[in-house]
Amino acid sequence: MVTHALNLIDISLEYPDGESSLKALDAVDLVVGRGEFLSLVGPSGSGKSSLLAVAATLVKPTSGLVVIDGQDVSALKDAERTALRRDKVGIIFQQPNLLPSLTAVEQLLIRDHLRGKAVHEALGKAHELLKIVGLAASANKRPHQLSGGQRQRVNVARALMGSPTVLLVDEPTAALDHERSESIVRLLRRITDEFSTATVMVTHDTEFLPLTDSVTTMRDGRISPAALPSALPN
Ligand code: ADP
Ligand code: MG
Repeated sequence: MVTHALNLIDISLEYPDGESSLKALDAVDLVVGRGEFLSLVGPSGSGKSSLLAVAATLVKPTSGLVVIDGQDVSALKDAERTALRRDKVGIIFQQPNLLPSLTAVEQLLIRDHLRGKAVHEALGKAHELLKIVGLAASANKRPHQLSGGQRQRVNVARALMGSPTVLLVDEPTAALDHERSESIVRLLRRITDEFSTATVMVTHDTEFLPLTDSVTTMRDGRISPAALPSALPN
């Protein structure tokens, strides 16, 4: 049997909403294999970020199964789930959230530092990743010395420090101009190919969709069938 890197099965997520509840995700299924780059589109409020949060094991679904690398996340204890997230999941949000006082290479190292891993071991890897994202010459720069696009590249490199199987990316280009946006999406394409990550990217930039392998559309918390022009009623 093929084990998919990420498998969401019949996921529903309800948020409390006053006396009742709001269904942010409604019977969602999603399968992403290693080396596959999937884009997730849909109107604001359709549940895209909620889906990423569930896939990232940051939010527990109300029902359904999250399976990462063959492991059923719901069967894990909190500490085990945290370990799985650390070892298998890379998360890239719209805002890089870099620490102002740290250099680019230090942004990558704090993660392993917190794990109690020898820093020198991680140092080589951090420099290698900064090279891959095109920042070899900026390793010792602090966030204020970097452009918005460069900060997002540090963010990407940082997400790769744990050698994730699953890479979850929420609107990585929302704060960038067109040219920088395209280069970030191209970078994510290259990373998906080189590291065989199962990559899910939420995006508004429909023009970059051809750089991804498939497009999934969400609407009102559900995966909606691709709306091909020929299938639209006239
Ligand atoms: P998208 O990323 O597609 O814009 P979200 O996943 O952020 O959509 O939101 C889906 C729905 O869930 C929206 O109606 C939103 O208001 C609601 N929602 C998102 N996060 C929360 C939260 N933490 N608490 C309550 N409701 C939320
Ligand atoms: Mg969102």
